[in-house]
Amino acid sequence: MLDGKLAAALRDAVDRGFDQQVDFTAELVKFPSLRGAEAPAQDFVAGEFRARGLDVDRWRIELDDIKHLHGFSPVCVDYSNAINVVGSYRAKNTIGRSLILNGHIDVVPVGPTDMWTSPPFQPRIVDGWMYGRGAGDMKAGIAAMVFALDAIRRAGWQPGADIHLQSVVEEECTGNGALACVARGYRADAAIIPEPFNNTLTRAQVGVLWLQITVRGMPVHVLEAKAGANAIEASFEIMQALHVLEEEWNAQRHEHEHFDHLEHPINFNVGKIAGGDWASSVPAWCTFDLRVGIYPGQDPAAKLAEVTECVMQAAQRQPFLRKHPPQIVNHGMRAWGYVLPKSEAPDAAESVLQRSHRSAFDGAALEVQTSTGATDARALGQVGGTPSLVYGPRAESIHGFDERVELDSMRRVTQTIALFIAEWCGLAPR
Ligand SMILES: [Zn+2]
Repeated sequence: MLDGKLAAALRDAVDRGFDQQVDFTAELVKFPSLRGAEAPAQDFVAGEFRARGLDVDRWRIELDDIKHLHGFSPVCVDYSNAINVVGSYRAKNTIGRSLILNGHIDVVPVGPTDMWTSPPFQPRIVDGWMYGRGAGDMKAGIAAMVFALDAIRRAGWQPGADIHLQSVVEEECTGNGALACVARGYRADAAIIPEPFNNTLTRAQVGVLWLQITVRGMPVHVLEAKAGANAIEASFEIMQALHVLEEEWNAQRHEHEHFDHLEHPINFNVGKIAGGDWASSVPAWCTFDLRVGIYPGQDPAAKLAEVTECVMQAAQRQPFLRKHPPQIVNHGMRAWGYVLPKSEAPDAAESVLQRSHRSAFDGAALEVQTSTGATDARALGQVGGTPSLVYGPRAESIHGFDERVELDSMRRVTQTIALFIAEWCGLAPR
């Protein structure tokens, strides 16, 4: 337990650095760190780590280093720009337990920018919220990691155990960035991932599969449309069959601890589609991308086989597709779910987080939630063996228009992390 005076001093140190923290977050949001374009943002982060005296490890992900690992997701994109950055603080004398603070620098596409109130990569602050793509998911979280450590120093202390600050790529599509950190040897006694989940701790989260389904058709002039086979309309029938499977999986939620109280934990999403060449030709092709959620404990390969079977059965009902079955590839997410092991021991990471949260949030208890999305906790937790606490600020419209993060929540989450470091790692005078 932290002394009350020390806790107050650390909270105050976060507050004193907060204007600078907000500026730092805005700088990060200005980088359009979409998949494959994260390197400039990563260079900025590396520079900030270096300026703080951390040991900087900046490397390009090599598929050969990770493709044999449990939890690897297959990719078909080029990784020549997939850069991870880790800044390590190394304690001179170890008196406490080590920690990983992990955040992802990659952001998802913005969609039609005319639907945004202001340009997505020009952050702005209105009524205590910062707007911008990635502001919540999860550049505010990366800023919280950095400024929690700053606050410890500002208050005149240094942590008593090693801390690794990880800024990773590929969270939104594969999880291979966090997996590459594990392959590189990064382990700790606990990890915090400040994903923007409303100041809650995530107990359980789904796994995710990405599938790309290509449907063929028979092109004919539209004047004899009945003689052809329309690949786009055939795809809609396959999608309907997939949504039937989705509801079957949701009906099984009562068999899965942590998920039975949710109305619709499993979401199938057709996230992308392309097809056809000409308005007056029956389309010969349609390709669509599907995201599928699975419960923790379910094997992604087995669930992939179930989805494949569903698509093939739907194809059987269409004469042309019976002879020319769809092609299905899984590149991208092939992720297991994750459950944070429950521990009520007073010195367990979860207990330390509860106390730290209570101190930062005026005595409010830490709420525990289940996520219907996936995070990098599975790589750090399941593959790396580092129990991973997903805990971060309040955000709205992540992956949507006008994404925003609440600044007061960001400040308090930073306080929580600083207090967690103080208790978990121990403190020594600077
Ligand atoms: Zn995220």
